[in-house]
Amino acid sequence: MSTVPSPASDPDIDIAANLAGVMAEIAEAAAAAGRDAGDIGLVAVSKTHGPDRIRPALEAGHRLFGENRVQEAERKWPELREAFPDLRLHLIGPLQGNKTRDAVELFDCIETIDRPRIARRVAEAIQQAGRAVDCYVQVNTGAEAQKAGIPPDEADALIAQCRDEFQLSVRGLMCIPPADEEPSLHFALLREIARRNGLDGLSMGMSADFPLAIPFGATLVRVGTAIFGPRGTY
Ligand SMILES: *Cc1c(COP(=O)(O)O)cnc(C)c1O
Repeated sequence: MSTVPSPASDPDIDIAANLAGVMAEIAEAAAAAGRDAGDIGLVAVSKTHGPDRIRPALEAGHRLFGENRVQEAERKWPELREAFPDLRLHLIGPLQGNKTRDAVELFDCIETIDRPRIARRVAEAIQQAGRAVDCYVQVNTGAEAQKAGIPPDEADALIAQCRDEFQLSVRGLMCIPPADEEPSLHFALLREIARRNGLDGLSMGMSADFPLAIPFGATLVRVGTAIFGPRGTY
C-alpha cells in the first residue's frame, strides 16, 4: 500500500517559502528589465487547493489570489474573506453565462472576458450587484480552436465594445500561450494589442514562464504550482 500523503496534507510543501521564492524571482526579473517589482502583481493561483493550503499564504501576508472555477471558489473564499477582508480574488477561468452573477458577487476582477455576450452579462450583473469589478479581456494569442479568448484580430472591437457599450472597467489583457510554443511571441503580441488600445494591464506568465513575461511588460503573473505544489483535489 502506498503511504504517499495526499498533496493537501503534504508536510514538505512550505507555502510561505515558495511564495518568497517566487517574489524573489519576480524582483530579479524586474531588476534585469529595469522595471519596478512593485508594478508586478503576483496572482497566487489556488485552484484545486483547499483552505488549509491557502491560509499559510494569507498568514504570510499575501492577498492576491486567482481561481479558475466559480463554484469551487464559492466553496472556500467567503469564509477566507471574512478572516482576511482585504484580500483580492481574480477569476482566471472561463465564465459561463449562468454563472456571471455569482462571479460578480465573489470576484474583484474577472480576467476572462472573451465575447460580447459574456461582457454584456457581466456588465448587467455588476449593475445589479452594485460592486466595482475590474475586467481583463482574454486574448487567444495562439488562435487555438479549443482555447478560450477572443482571436487577436477581433480584440480591438471587443475592447471598444466593453468600454463604450457596456461601460466595463477594462484594466488590461490576459493570455495563456499555447503549451508547445515559445511564449515570448505571445507576450509580445499581447503587449502590442494592449498598447494600441491604451491599456496598461498585462496578465501573462505562469509557473513555467513568469520571469520571461516580465521583460515583456507583465503587470500580473499568475502562479499556481510553484507556490502550492502539484494540483490537489479540492
Ligand atoms: C492554473 C492556471 C495558472 C497557473 O498555472 P501554474 O502552471 O500552476 O502556475 C495560470 N493561469 C491560468 C489561467 C490557470 O488556469
